[in-house]
Amino acid sequence: MSPALTRRQEIFQRLRDQEWLFDDLRHELAVTVSTLEDDLGHIQRSVKANGERLRVRSAICADCGFALSSKALHPPGRCPKCRSGRLDGPWLRIE
Ligand SMILES: [Zn+2]
Repeated sequence: MSPALTRRQEIFQRLRDQEWLFDDLRHELAVTVSTLEDDLGHIQRSVKANGERLRVRSAICADCGFALSSKALHPPGRCPKCRSGRLDGPWLRIE
């Protein structure tokens, strides 16, 4: 029996298996936005040591198609261009 995974180990494994929508991952783990952002910040630094990286596919506005900054792990509530609240992404994966 392997010991229970810490939350960061679990995130790490999930992101290596497949690409995750930030909000799906957050709901899956039942954590707040800031907790997940904090965890991802740590993971971002630790994967670099393994020669891997946390790839962030930037969020896109469903209404005007505006692509938000790829550096943001979590998008703002509204599109900065058209103010729409319908944003898709960002998607995360370790590769
Ligand atoms: Zn927009």
